[in-house]
Amino acid sequence: MSAEEYKNPDTVSMASEIDGILNTSESKIKNIFTADVEDYFHVSAFSDVIKYSDWGKYKSRIIPNILSLLGLLEKYKIRGTFFILGWVAEKFPEIVTLIHQAGHEIACHSYLHRLVYKLTPRQFYDDTKKAKDIIEEIINRPIHGYRAPSFSIVKKCQWAWDMLDQLGFTYSSSVYPIKHDRYGFLGIPRTAFQVRVKSGSYMKEIPMTTISMLGKNIPVGGGGYLRLFPLWFTRMAIRRLNHEGIPAIVYMHPWEMDPHQPKMPGKLLSRFRHYTNLSTTEYKLGSLFGEMEFTAMNDYIESMPEENFKVHKTGERS
Ligand SMILES: [Zn+2]
Repeated sequence: MSAEEYKNPDTVSMASEIDGILNTSESKIKNIFTADVEDYFHVSAFSDVIKYSDWGKYKSRIIPNILSLLGLLEKYKIRGTFFILGWVAEKFPEIVTLIHQAGHEIACHSYLHRLVYKLTPRQFYDDTKKAKDIIEEIINRPIHGYRAPSFSIVKKCQWAWDMLDQLGFTYSSSVYPIKHDRYGFLGIPRTAFQVRVKSGSYMKEIPMTTISMLGKNIPVGGGGYLRLFPLWFTRMAIRRLNHEGIPAIVYMHPWEMDPHQPKMPGKLLSRFRHYTNLSTTEYKLGSLFGEMEFTAMNDYIESMPEENFKVHKTGERS
């Protein structure tokens, strides 16, 4: 095809639209960086082959992985939020101290990484309280943020927000407005909102990032989606969101920067999701960090006027 043929009006108009999106980096929107602090053997995808009681038998790689991540964040002067698994905090309190001393926000990622919708409210309360107590004792101050393992606050376990309120959390970042085999909560807002909880107070929820394309919510910017999608797509999606005034939440796990981790048994799909493009995470994060602004989740929440968190009536609360 000749260069002239490229200049048909449709192509030119699409090119200028993409240019417009790509050139909005002057936008002052700060995106949000979060890490879920867990080891490679904690992930939900392998929970059918690795029991909680066997976790102690695996060789942890969390310390070198966290050191790499902290180094990357320091290089780009980025403050993020670390949702820490209680089990990790209990076994490696020095990691929590290290992250805290580096100036990042410390938050909670449950104690045993069990899916919320598989727990009773009582089990959820006890697990979360255990993790929160362990983490708070290490840093000697209260924490306010919670992220459910595998974004497992879904339609049928909205009682979790009441429990989080009872436990003293002020925000959650635990829902993904997509359809997925393990998680997903369609019908909730794509951007930050709040729900009224039993105490009469409100719980803020910061959903994981999606872009709306062809009537569907496409997950972008975190975990497996960051690894699987090419960088140009993630970059374009984040810029499009920022152009609309919406920050993206980039999330990752320390094991996603570790291509040399031991290979675990498990279902083919789980192994594909876990191991694909591990060697690209650091490069992709570094590229995004170098081009865009990022901050921690509590900084984002505190900088937003209260009226920006629309109250969402979720219905079907039990
Ligand atoms: Zn997790």
